[in-house]
Amino acid sequence: MATAVVTGASRGIGEAISQRLLELGYDVIGISRTINENSIHHPNFRALSCDLSDEKMTTSILTLLATDPSITILCNVAGFGIFEPHEEINAQTITKMVTLNLTAPMMLSNGLLRVLKFNEGIIFNITSIEALRHSKFSALYTATKAGLRAFSLSLFEEVRKSGVNVVSINPDMTTSSFFEELRFETSQEFDKRLEAEDIADTIQNILQMRNGVAITDITIRPQKFGIEKKK
Ligand code: NAP
Repeated sequence: MATAVVTGASRGIGEAISQRLLELGYDVIGISRTINENSIHHPNFRALSCDLSDEKMTTSILTLLATDPSITILCNVAGFGIFEPHEEINAQTITKMVTLNLTAPMMLSNGLLRVLKFNEGIIFNITSIEALRHSKFSALYTATKAGLRAFSLSLFEEVRKSGVNVVSINPDMTTSSFFEELRFETSQEFDKRLEAEDIADTIQNILQMRNGVAITDITIRPQKFGIEKKK
């Protein structure tokens, strides 16, 4: 059985991707801080609790994962954003965001590439529309996501000869708990926001393409522009 490792699997986009991969017949190892075996009810789901903003914890989880020869998919989903004037963000938050959004996907790719090469697997990195544009109050988040996209595209050039694909998925605003602490949220209107399932659909479509074809960079947007300011 092929195994997918999905970070950020406890909710939102990572949970939707995990559910879809389970439906497609993969074993899924879901990673997040609060995840447990009850997070997703499926016999082929396994939970690994880890704070991926802590490099030592990421290293120890990699030691566990490195013994699994069936890993074929790595989905780097865990991440968070803060959209405030840059001088208002403290140093601890800067380090935490860079470590979670950028360092952890690089470390997980580094630790799992041998098995992914052996299985001719695929890495999905969930970046953001912010990886492609330059928005006010988004300098830190944009830097982590543009960095992750650049990492994905460069890594593909390195590993394509081994049969490994690396995909940067760049979603626009998607309804999830991502906005809980923010001053804005997604629109209520269906054509002005994305759903987590839209990202899962994209991953399914890529996985179902014929061998020998690689989508490396894909941007998903709602048909119309939408954003709600919180009262
Ligand atoms: P979400 O609902 O807030 O989910 C975030 C996930 O990341 C949760 O599973 C959370 O689990 C995990 N996580 C957070 N901090 C972590 C840590 N220190 N260590 C391990 N896991 C951690 O957000 P989402 O919308 O699904 O976002 C998922 C990814 O998509 C993020 O990388 C985000 O930047 C990206 N994205 C989101 C949007 C959007 O509009 N929602 C758009 C573009 C890109 P625990 O709390 O259990 O740790």
